Amino acid sequence: MGSVADNLNNVIQLLPQEVTLVAVSKTKSEEMIMDAYNVGQRDFGENKVQDLVQKYEHLPKDIKWHFIGHLQTNKVKYIAPFIHLLHGVDTEKLLVQIDKEGIKNSRSINCLLQVHIAQEETKFGFSDEELIAFLESDRWKQLTHVNIVGLMAMASHTSDLVQIADEFRSVSDLFFKVKQCYFQENKIFTVLSMGMSGDYMLAVANGSNMIRVGSSIFGDRIY
Ligand SMILES: *Cc1c(COP(=O)(O)O)cnc(C)c1O
Repeated sequence: MGSVADNLNNVIQLLPQEVTLVAVSKTKSEEMIMDAYNVGQRDFGENKVQDLVQKYEHLPKDIKWHFIGHLQTNKVKYIAPFIHLLHGVDTEKLLVQIDKEGIKNSRSINCLLQVHIAQEETKFGFSDEELIAFLESDRWKQLTHVNIVGLMAMASHTSDLVQIADEFRSVSDLFFKVKQCYFQENKIFTVLSMGMSGDYMLAVANGSNMIRVGSSIFGDRIY
């Protein structure tokens, strides 16, 4: 493993310009985040509310913080004042809570709806059918302080690259369908967050424009 700056460069070099790199800094120190910050990285991802709040308080205020974990409704309030993008919004109940906290903080909070693609039973997210049913309901249009700016997905945990590519492509198809059907006037629906250290090039080749990369930049995580 090289330095954080070298690793970051290696990832960025291969990316098309329109792809946003979220550097996933969960479990990593503020010093390591600053190593990336000092070579220009501004988007960082965390999956624990408490760690995120602490890092937000200590680190430069022009960092764009992404929450990439499973968010509990009772914890939305802690990150609502500053969060740049919430990646894993997987229920209507959570979206309603985010809207409430947006109102309290006088800001609209950017959200990605998580789509369930992986075969594993434990994965969170809307199925294709649930997502379409929810968007058809129009209830989301009453949520004045959430911006649904796109979709997020994770591929199955498998070494079968054909399967992973198929999964990414099916989410990408869904993304364009949703964009066309529900966000034609409202042009905010632009983000497709797919791809991690092991599969981000495959994700980008299949339509992703935001990747979440941790271990390839910061090294393996020790819990
Ligand atoms: C940890 C995590 C990542 C980054 O994983 P790496 O394999 O270390 O790149 C991306 N997305 C989510 C949702 C994560 O929890």
